[in-house]
Amino acid sequence: MKIPVSIERMPKVELHQHLDGSIPPAVTWKIMKEYGLNPVDSLAEMKKLLQLQPEEEGSLLSYLDKFHYPMWITQFYENISRVAEAVGAAAAKQGVRTFELRYAPIIHVYAGLTVRQAIRSVLAGLNKVRAKYGVRTGLIIIAMRHHGPHVAKILAKAAISEAQYLHGRTGVVGFDLAGAERGNPPGLFQPSYEIARRGGLGLTAHAGEDEGPHYVWQAIDELGCIRIGHGCSAVRDKALLRRMAKDKILVECAPTSNYQTGAVAKGERHPIFTFLEHGIPVAICTDNTTVSRTSHNQESALFVKELGVREIRRIHRCAESHSFIDETRVTRKA
Ligand SMILES: [Zn+2]
Repeated sequence: MKIPVSIERMPKVELHQHLDGSIPPAVTWKIMKEYGLNPVDSLAEMKKLLQLQPEEEGSLLSYLDKFHYPMWITQFYENISRVAEAVGAAAAKQGVRTFELRYAPIIHVYAGLTVRQAIRSVLAGLNKVRAKYGVRTGLIIIAMRHHGPHVAKILAKAAISEAQYLHGRTGVVGFDLAGAERGNPPGLFQPSYEIARRGGLGLTAHAGEDEGPHYVWQAIDELGCIRIGHGCSAVRDKALLRRMAKDKILVECAPTSNYQTGAVAKGERHPIFTFLEHGIPVAICTDNTTVSRTSHNQESALFVKELGVREIRRIHRCAESHSFIDETRVTRKA
């Protein structure tokens, strides 16, 4: 895809990007080789395992399957820090100036790290990005739905103890819920969101990606989310759209990912247009640059034809004002 120069030069805001689905394949390959963990013989073959292939598109479960191999190399502090830095550096080179990365620490403790170390390792990597590229950085902690509400509460407590305002530089800025959506209603996770809210974190949740608008309602009403990840099914509920517009609930849109997971059917108009028509704030996000074979410039460029460069710029500015990163609350300057 040809990227217009105006998009390349535009300062961009990334509010929804996962660490493990965004590690540059060459970095994963290099670390795998260092540890003798490479399951195939070449980087080209490895890419097929890390990036969603066209014939695999259309289901959230095959999409989530791509997170298998990154787990192998992200169980040690140094490696996690190294990949976080690589993901942040790649974003900075795409013109991202405000960068919220998200990550589920609990699936990075299989080799014995504590949850706290698993969180700190990402913060260390992001601090390097902040220092080198001048990017505003923050980490969102994810609770995985299938681990249940109790583990989510433990994670919320771990997240607030690493909150940005307790750190000099990068800290935890938000709390999120992710993983297979069906059968795991957001409302069950209310106690963990209450902990995160009291701890001053920004609240978001993946909702309406593989389930109906009632899950988006729950994320807003019961969890107190002020941003929603994907939220695609919300377009089917007029009352919900009115509510989101009224309360300025931002939707973190990840167009390429949405078509790949089947959240939006191929050929269907992306919900971002409906959100914009209803006055709902949106952000243009990548979700997973590696799994989705995309980049920040590419996601923004997708809409240039229909929306124009000025509108894309306005969207990023608006997204900036919905960022959970709040440096005015940092008490100790680094
Ligand atoms: Zn996501």
